[in-house]
Amino acid sequence: MIEIYKKLPQTNCGKCGVSTCMAFAQKVKKSEAKLSDCPFMADIIIEEVPSAGVEPFSNYEQVSDDLEKEAAKVDFRSTAKAIGGEFESKNGHETIRLKMIKSTYELRKDGLYLENSYCMDPWTKIIIYDYVRRQGTSDLSGDWITLGHFPDTASHVKAFQSSAENKLAEAFKNDLPGLKQHCIRLGSIYVKPKAKSDFFCSFNLLPQVPLYLSFWAADDEFDAECKLLFDSNAEDHIDIENLAYLVERFVDELVTWEQGAEDSN
Ligand code: SF4
Repeated sequence: MIEIYKKLPQTNCGKCGVSTCMAFAQKVKKSEAKLSDCPFMADIIIEEVPSAGVEPFSNYEQVSDDLEKEAAKVDFRSTAKAIGGEFESKNGHETIRLKMIKSTYELRKDGLYLENSYCMDPWTKIIIYDYVRRQGTSDLSGDWITLGHFPDTASHVKAFQSSAENKLAEAFKNDLPGLKQHCIRLGSIYVKPKAKSDFFCSFNLLPQVPLYLSFWAADDEFDAECKLLFDSNAEDHIDIENLAYLVERFVDELVTWEQGAEDSN
């Protein structure tokens, strides 16, 4: 995925239908998209040599490695408390346990682990290490906003709607019970809705990064619709590009499981 990502313009413009180049690279890797679906690839191939100007941030592996080294230096006990993780010290080894969507990661001094295996996914590491580094101090505001209300996100909104909100609406347009069931499986939490919908629930993408999901099922008049909302203080805890990518992964988990269940029937 990283090799594919390196070939892309890395501008996260969203013209390929997903909101980040990393998400697009993942789709190409899974054969869900072709490189040529990025309208800028032709230019890149003709130029052949990538611009030196993008080089410092062009290698996500390098970024994730650098963040990993930085994370190893933080005080684990106080950091765990600040980020909503669980601290453990055993036989001289310190660990922070942190839940992201439904998986519990272990941050150790020598790296990030999932089920005792070293995590190789650079994007997972970037999201978690950036969250650890930020140690956001803002409480939840209680104001829920769409992705487009965060600063500098206008260019991502269309792609986010297509790869997250519309994707969920399409997958569950005639299956509200299925959506409810899958949301429970992914750890949904009951929160009182602020507006009327056919289904509403909340998730903790990370301990201090909630996601609010409103769903309206299709009827004779209207297509199904889904809205994903965030706390207005989310940016204090997570980079918004990381948040968009995390939500796309979350949606993929819901939808892929749905397809898998259908396939096995
Ligand atoms: S179209 Fe997609 S892959 Fe191409 S630069 Fe824009 S976001 Fe990246």
